[in-house]
Amino acid sequence: MNDRIYDVVIVGAGMVGAASACLLARAGFSVAIVEAREPVVFEADADYALRVSAFSPGSIDILKETGAWRQIEKQRHCHYRRMHVEDRDESARLGFNAPEFGLEYLGIIIENHLVQWSLWQTLQAMGGVEIICPDKLESVDFRASEPLVELASGRQLRCRVLAGADGAESRLRKMLGIEQDHWEYGQLGLVTVVQTGNSNPGIAWQKFMQGGPLAFLPLQDGASSIVWSRPQSEARRLLDLDDADFLSELEQSVASETTRWPGLMRSCGPRAAFPLTMRLSHRYSGPHAVLLGDAAHVVHPLAGQGVNLGLLDAAGLVEVLVDARRHSLDIGSEKTLLKYARWRQSEAEIMARGIHGIRGLFTPESLGPLRKLGLNLVSGSWMAKEAFIKRAAGRNRNAPALARGQALTDLLNPAA
Ligand SMILES: Cc1cc2nc3c(=O)[nH]c(=O)nc-3n(C[C@H](O)[C@H](O)[C@H](O)COP(=O)(O)OP(=O)(O)OC[C@H]3O[C@@H](n4cnc5c(N)ncnc54)[C@H](O)[C@@H]3O)c2cc1C
Repeated sequence: MNDRIYDVVIVGAGMVGAASACLLARAGFSVAIVEAREPVVFEADADYALRVSAFSPGSIDILKETGAWRQIEKQRHCHYRRMHVEDRDESARLGFNAPEFGLEYLGIIIENHLVQWSLWQTLQAMGGVEIICPDKLESVDFRASEPLVELASGRQLRCRVLAGADGAESRLRKMLGIEQDHWEYGQLGLVTVVQTGNSNPGIAWQKFMQGGPLAFLPLQDGASSIVWSRPQSEARRLLDLDDADFLSELEQSVASETTRWPGLMRSCGPRAAFPLTMRLSHRYSGPHAVLLGDAAHVVHPLAGQGVNLGLLDAAGLVEVLVDARRHSLDIGSEKTLLKYARWRQSEAEIMARGIHGIRGLFTPESLGPLRKLGLNLVSGSWMAKEAFIKRAAGRNRNAPALARGQALTDLLNPAA
């Protein structure tokens, strides 16, 4: 071990950890980031990847400040300005249109590995960050005034702040003894890319069907990336079907007399399925340590908020650490890290519990009349829709400044 003490050591260079490293290094902190696996190289002429995410306007503003956006925007991505939500029998519907809320767009669909790869390349090109990959967090000695991190390779690192962005099974969270509330939905989210008879006109469309929601997210070439939440055994059965049978079941499930789009299901790509859970950590900080992204919270993908919440954590952490430094406070003190932890925990829980509630309302058949009433009430109330959209866009009052369009340079020089 050398004598160097990093300001921040980040564990995990998924989208959240890598974005945090870019922001912190651009804010002048010395950073080391440890990642177990080399990221997948993005190839522009390859087929669409299975995992895509809907990035909110607030997340896009954060990605711009990481420096990676310049690279991402040159590759395929798809803005959507409209979003439709409907109940299984279409008796109740809710529509959102970006301009109604003063937004240019509601979200952008981007492949996860394009974002991660672009962040990774940005990190490699910037000074102030040491990338340690492949290597793994093995243990941490929290007794000293700065945590001593030991990696699987035997390498040791010291830092003022240890940030865990190491995903849902976070080793750092377990080492800190942080417990979680954990809901297993007993469902898998089946994902694939489908070409439909009518191309997707740039609408994010979600139907709450018996057995779980089905989302069609628009891709640049008019195809859609779907996330179909199904009970586990049913999802496994759908995975095992051949393409023609799968497409026929999908088509029957979405078909209705009143919906003209998406129409016929023409073809699909490979399929995969992911377990759906909600996990909420009881704390987001420990001695000299914080949690970000899925390490802190996992939410059901029905509102497309998981990585968006994680990027808000990244922006929140840099905001709190910059503020502490400006006031000559210890960035690794309990007071500083609790400020981050309480802020992000309360914000993430509002979103997570909201999503959990929506899922609960849309699950039992017996709640049909209540759903209809709820959707129609929200549909008729511009204020309720605006409150929902602002939070989903990452632009509510309590969102980090970077998500509300402030530049990192303004955070660093507030008086300028
Ligand atoms: C079907 C589905 C659809 C989704 N759609 C959306 C969407 O539309 N919008 C949205 O916002 N979210 C969506 N999500 C959620 C989103 O994918 C996750 O929230 C997001 O990928 C989490 O990113 P992360 O960086 O926090 O964690 P991860 O992506 O899990 O990254 C963790 C990283 O840490 C590394 N790591 C782990 N342990 C160690 C260790 N000990 N040492 C070193 N490195 C380690 C791993 O290799 C990995 O690279 C969806 C999720 C699912 C399942």
